[in-house]
Order: sequence, then C-alpha cells, then structure tokens
Amino acid sequence: MKSIQTDVCIAGGGPAGMLLGLLLAKQGVNVLVLEMHKQFEREFRGEVLQTRFVQMMQQLGLWSELEQQTHVRLAAHDYYRGEERIARVEFADLNAEVPFAAWMPQPVLLGYLQEKAQAYPSFSMWFDAQVKELLQDDTGYNGVLVEHAGEQVEVRARVTIGADGRFSTIRRLGGFEYEYEHHESDYLWFICNMPSDWPASIRLVMTEQRNYILFPRYPDQLQAGIMLPKGQWKQITERGVDALREELRAATPALADFAETLSDFKPFHLLQARQHFVKEWAQDGLLLIGDAAHCALPAGAVGVSLAAATAILAAQVITEALAAGDVSKERLSRLQQQREAEVREIHQTQWRMGGRPPQPGSGKQPLPNFAAGLKKVFVMEKALPVQSGYTF
Ligand SMILES: Cc1cc2nc3c(=O)[nH]c(=O)nc-3n(C[C@H](O)[C@H](O)[C@H](O)COP(=O)(O)OP(=O)(O)OC[C@H]3O[C@@H](n4cnc5c(N)ncnc54)[C@H](O)[C@@H]3O)c2cc1C
Repeated sequence: MKSIQTDVCIAGGGPAGMLLGLLLAKQGVNVLVLEMHKQFEREFRGEVLQTRFVQMMQQLGLWSELEQQTHVRLAAHDYYRGEERIARVEFADLNAEVPFAAWMPQPVLLGYLQEKAQAYPSFSMWFDAQVKELLQDDTGYNGVLVEHAGEQVEVRARVTIGADGRFSTIRRLGGFEYEYEHHESDYLWFICNMPSDWPASIRLVMTEQRNYILFPRYPDQLQAGIMLPKGQWKQITERGVDALREELRAATPALADFAETLSDFKPFHLLQARQHFVKEWAQDGLLLIGDAAHCALPAGAVGVSLAAATAILAAQVITEALAAGDVSKERLSRLQQQREAEVREIHQTQWRMGGRPPQPGSGKQPLPNFAAGLKKVFVMEKALPVQSGYTF
C-alpha cells in the first residue's frame, strides 16, 4: 500500500478544514486536506456568512479579496406573521462597523480558500479522498487510511484533524463522546424564484401551522426552509403533494408561484437541525474542529462562523504544538480551553431564542430581548486572539 508522511492531515475540506489548511500552510507546516467529494459543488450548505464571519475575515486580512467574490449583502432580518411585518432587526443596529451579513455560495468560499492556500508549497489537497480508518501507535494517533480515487493510501501525520462535519467519521473512529446532543426538528429546504421587489433581507414568516425562513440566493432566487418537528416529513409525504401545495400557497405570497408548479416532492431536501458538543475535542495526536466538535442549530446561521473561529485558533495551537514537539491530548486541548465558553454561550442563546420567536410589535422596532439574543449570535464582541503571523 502507498504510504506518505505529512505534518498535519485534515479530514474534511469544509470551511473549518480549508481555513485551517490555509493558515497552517502559511506557517510553512506541511498539510494535506482530504475531501471525500470530487469538488466543492453542493446544494444546501452554510451559505449565509454572519456578521461575525466577516469580522473574522477582516481581522485575518482576507475580506477585501473575499468581497470581490460572488455574494449578496443582507441588510436586515424581517419577521412576518402571515403577510404582516411585525419586526425588523437591521444589522447596522447590531454592528455599525459591519452592517451586513453575506450570502455567498459555499463552493465560492471554499474555492477561494483553496486557491489562496495553493500559493504555499506546503499545502496539498486531495478530492475524492474518503477517510476510512484512523492509524495509531503506542504514542497515540498518527494518521489515517484514506481511499483516494479508488486507491487505499496510508497518510502518516504528526497531527490528525477531524474537520469532517456534523456526522464526523473521525469522531466515531476516535471514540469521542458527546457532552450533549439534540435533534428535535428538521428543515425542509427548497429553491424558488425571488420576487422582483425582494429586499436584501432574511425573512422569517410565522403562520398558524409552521415557520418559514426565506433569503436571497444569488442572482435571482430564494432559498426557502420550512421548519418541521422531527419526523413530520413522513406525515407530509403521506398526506400527499396537493396538501403541501395548498399550505405553501397560503403561507406567504413569495411562495405562491412555486406552489403552483409543485407536482412532486423532488424539489425538497430534508436536513436535520442538530446541536451537539463533544466533551473533549482532543486525544494524543488527534483533534476535532468545526461541526465535528461543536454543531449549532440553524437559528442565526452561525455554524460557518463558529467553525471558522475554531479553525483559526486551531492553527495557532497546532503550529505551537509541532514546534514544541508535543502533540499530546493535554497540549491540543488548549484549543478547547480557548473556544468552549463562546460555543456554549451561543448554543444556549440559540435555545433561549428558538422557543420564543418575536411577538407582534410595531413596525421596524426590534424586539428588545430577541434583538439582544440575535446580537450575541451575529456579532463577535471582541476580536479573536490572532497572532500577527496568521494575518494576510
Ligand atoms: C442545510 C444547512 C444549511 C446551513 N446554513 C448555514 C448558514 O446559512 N450559515 C452558517 O453559518 N451555517 C449554516 N449551516 C451550518 C454550516 O454548514 C456548518 O456549521 C459548517 O459548514 C461547518 O463547517 P465544517 O467545515 O466543520 O463542516 P462541513 O462544512 O460539514 O465540512 C465537512 C467536510 O468534510 C467532508 N467529509 C466528511 N466525511 C469525510 C470523510 N470521511 N473523509 C473525507 N472528507 C469527509 C465533507 O464532504 C465536507 O466537505 C447549515 C447547515 C446545513 C446542514
């Protein structure tokens, strides 16, 4: 079997893995990213980049290039009960310096990070590379067995990273345990045409039956999500597509045209609304980051931001650990010590907000408690402790 050696092997080329790969490569660390898909193209992933993500990219010095890429700026969150707008929260009221969130196709974001990383000779990436097994010796974990384009390859690494998302293989293989894990609802996603008068905003529509989330998708579509209690999708399919068509038609005028054309369930993609937190993110030679370690609920669209923040600080922890020749669990746990308080706080805020959508208010006024919760989720209160060598 072919065997190769690197400093850091990252399983997963999502936002966390790509950002970590870039930052390590910038430090001259030999890094190999393994991504099981053949390209970045995928439907329905984290495409709203929250204000806090923009703040981090500004801090790294990457935003001026990123904002040249395809994206839509979102100025506000609007809350509707049926057709009546009951509240509006403007990003400008939450953070005057970054008064927007951005919708950016994830392949665009990941492609940008890849291109940037490829400028460093110590960066490598394999697509069509699915991690199958963890390798270990008596000092701890030291790499993975990967199936790359049909060939089994042993990748030996001083540090192995699980950046392989919410259903992480590395987490399972490494026997990591959850401190908590929730899955109580699902999101049913679909794409429809955007009405010509749609403002640059994310809209939550509350109806008698359920809540909908709608936001612009470049250049002229809406991405729409129906929030469902876990398991209800089965009942909806049993009731038949006619009943769902009627429901969508009545929910909000923006969905009426889509409802007219609906003849089967093919346009819908069901995704779990999960939240989990892994008790300990590190083992000897092995570290979880991003959704593999901590997965947020969809409320506030903050998963990419949390994953990015963990990846940025992971780059510093790993580079220092390699330089010290100490990749023990204790050393790598420094990442969790830096990150867990914020992750826990945002998870808890999501629960507090999730059960209490805003009540009818007047016009544009944000509802005080809800807006405070949104601010906590959307905006980074203080800059990450990023060292100067990690900025561009
Ligand atoms: C439908 C949906 C909508 C979302 N919307 C938003 C949003 O608008 N804004 C937001 O901030 N967050 C959103 N999120 C959350 C966000 O997508 C995640 O929090 C974020 O992508 C986590 O980044 P990550 O790099 O940790 O994991 P991921 O993005 O999941 O990346 C993991 C990568 O690992 C790869 N992989 C998995 N297993 C293996 C393996 N065995 N070997 C090799 N590669 C592997 C996967 O193919 C994937 O590319 C959404 C999530 C979902 C499901």
